[in-house]
Amino acid sequence: MAKAQESQKESGICILCGGEKKGYPAKVDLPIYLARKAREALRLPPRHSIACESCFSSCVKKRQEFEKKLRSYRLGAALFAALTIIGGAMFGRLELWLAVPSILGAGIILLLPYGSYFPSFQEKLKQR
Ligand SMILES: [Zn+2]
Repeated sequence: MAKAQESQKESGICILCGGEKKGYPAKVDLPIYLARKAREALRLPPRHSIACESCFSSCVKKRQEFEKKLRSYRLGAALFAALTIIGGAMFGRLELWLAVPSILGAGIILLLPYGSYFPSFQEKLKQR
């Protein structure tokens, strides 16, 4: 059952240089999954996103930047929701429907960083 390390490489399109090469596959998370489903629905051929050997380290860096952005937007969304709800409460109007724009606003803030979404790449499969 022992497979060579090479078998973890897949051929596909490098997300950074756009070359058709062998490389490390992107981790399938929700945005990737949705993108694949969308391509399937549009009857487009599946596109395999990979990071090729020479781009791998910059891909990891880009992913880290994206994750940092994600975290700060998450904090921003929580602050926004808290402040608008507290603000409403301070004016003595703590009604449930007043929380709706707060939650919507927070949801929009949460979606913003996905404009610069970058997938995660794993060099090796996690060891168990
Ligand atoms: Zn590349």
